[in-house]
Amino acid sequence: MAIERTLAILKPDCVRKQLIGEVTSHIQKAGFKILGMKMIRLTSETAGGFYAVHRGRPFFDELIKFMSSGACVPIALEKENAVADYRKLIGATDPKDAEDGTIRKLYADNKGENIVHGSDSVDNGKIEISYFFSERELVANNS
Ligand code: ATP
Ligand code: MG
Repeated sequence: MAIERTLAILKPDCVRKQLIGEVTSHIQKAGFKILGMKMIRLTSETAGGFYAVHRGRPFFDELIKFMSSGACVPIALEKENAVADYRKLIGATDPKDAEDGTIRKLYADNKGENIVHGSDSVDNGKIEISYFFSERELVANNS
């Protein structure tokens, strides 16, 4: 299996619930290497740009309002098979449907406020990581 990168975001509900350490611990225990991590506040514009594929969907406005409602923690991750393994670790979008032991099942309240983001493909992982991190920042930490 190939080494891949994927983007995690600890969403504003994760930060508000004081779960940054707990969720990051799950990610690290699952074998992901953290290449970059920062705390940022998205605006409606930057959240809308990040989730542009969902523009026009019924939940888009709610999603943008939520993602810009407080601080987020984007984390660039690296591991063999990172994209699929991270999606498995976080569980289904709606915590009601998520498997036991997954991050969303353990910590999320509902489909809208679901604690974490995860890239859905290797290509999107690259695009999404570059939304928050320069390659220089990541290479510098890759040892
Ligand atoms: P993410 O992209 O955040 O990792 P995902 O890939 O599991 O989540 P998507 O279908 O890409 O799910 O939806 C993006 C986000 O939009 C979801 O994580 C959730 O916060 C929100 N969302 C999606 N569908 C709904 C819905 N029906 N109602 C409310 N919010 C939704
Ligand atoms: Mg998605």
